[in-house]
Amino acid sequence: MGIAEQNGTKVALVMGDVKRFRLINESLGRQDGDTLLREIADRARRSWPNPDSLAHINADSFAGTLVDFKDEAVAVHALEKAMKAVTGPPYTIGEKELAISMSAGIAVFPADGNNAETLFKNAEAALKQGKASGERYTFYQPSMNARVAETLLLENKMRRAIDNKEFALYYQPKLDLATGRVSGVEALIRWQDPDNGIVSPGEFIPLLEETGMILEVGAWAIHRALTDQRQWRMRGLQAPRIAVNVSAIQLRQANFVETVREAIMKTNSTPHGLDLEITESLIMEDVEDSIGKLETLRDMNVNIAIDDFGTGYSSLSYLARLPVQLLKIDRSFIIAMTRDAESMAFVSTIISLAHSLKLKVIAEGVETEEQLQFLKLLKCDEMQGYLFSKPLPFEQITSLLETY
Ligand code: C2E
Ligand code: CA
Ligand code: CA
Repeated sequence: MGIAEQNGTKVALVMGDVKRFRLINESLGRQDGDTLLREIADRARRSWPNPDSLAHINADSFAGTLVDFKDEAVAVHALEKAMKAVTGPPYTIGEKELAISMSAGIAVFPADGNNAETLFKNAEAALKQGKASGERYTFYQPSMNARVAETLLLENKMRRAIDNKEFALYYQPKLDLATGRVSGVEALIRWQDPDNGIVSPGEFIPLLEETGMILEVGAWAIHRALTDQRQWRMRGLQAPRIAVNVSAIQLRQANFVETVREAIMKTNSTPHGLDLEITESLIMEDVEDSIGKLETLRDMNVNIAIDDFGTGYSSLSYLARLPVQLLKIDRSFIIAMTRDAESMAFVSTIISLAHSLKLKVIAEGVETEEQLQFLKLLKCDEMQGYLFSKPLPFEQITSLLETY
């Protein structure tokens, strides 16, 4: 930096990491994951203008400097070139061919900091921001640190929430349209934040996924749901089937099936009525792996529902191969259905198709009597939505079950 100062030139500190490395590493295994990182580092060294500055700073992130430029465009050009060399041709690891992508954050001396520590902190903030927005590279902006600080704060709060058992499950009933009876309930997680009250999953699940904390919380949810279901049985209620949402990160774990088996055993839940709701896009990401796991679960009498159906791109031929028992039509189609003919036709087609594959169909987010009447006409099997009931805390859903 001293030389740059004398010459009136700039230095960029670039921090880069491999996108979704956690998932790549999980699917490759530890050893191949390490091999991949070594090859990435080799390519980076061969393409970086001053390779001596490159350092591997932790698992999947690298840092390096670009020196002596006057215009940021020059730094971007060098960075682009190196990125192309590193992420262009696919990597061959064992038998697998693998494409990677990277994101980078850039902090420039002297504008973004005049010591290494500040530059590091700011390059890291830029990287985090860029990852959130999907950019390949992002220059530091002063407002970023506030946002990063907020995320860190939330991350800490999530850890505390796990330790203090601040999560709860609410239950939303599903109605059988032919009999009018409650056929099951869906467990929907809530965070009881001591500072802000009840927080919806949309606000914290993404963070739990990004930090890996979803594994702990997801396993807890399955365990909790089965415990509650057992309570109902012990109170002499006709215990409904219970559905738990499962995240991509959970399904991809090699021991996912084991986690489910353990929860069933530990809660003495035989016979159990457990369903898992998995989004369409998630199953399709690695179909072969998913099919294997889902088949084992089916053999354990765990039913699988494809969640948010219609929003992904699953080809219909795959649908026939998947060991699933239920399709949940996404709420967006239920809303659109009564407004335009095309959506109505789509819902109608899904229902007939599902029935021809011996799958049950459930409509989510039903809010109006009109929607309900159409769904009955189209022979949809079940419905769930505010029209019948919002998600309810344990005591309230228990009262509801007592009257049904
Ligand atoms: P989802 O699985 O699609 O769940 C349905 C969402 O729609 C729920 O939001 C539910 O409260 C809401 N909903 C149900 N009926 C109606 C209706 O008639 N109108 C409207 N406007 N909304 C309705 P919620 O509880 O906020 O959950 C959001 C998402 O968070 C869920 O979407 C699910 O993907 C995820 N989630 C919830 N619990 C868990 C969990 O334990 N683990 C994981 N991995 N994800 C969870
Ligand atoms: Ca769901
Ligand atoms: Ca949905």
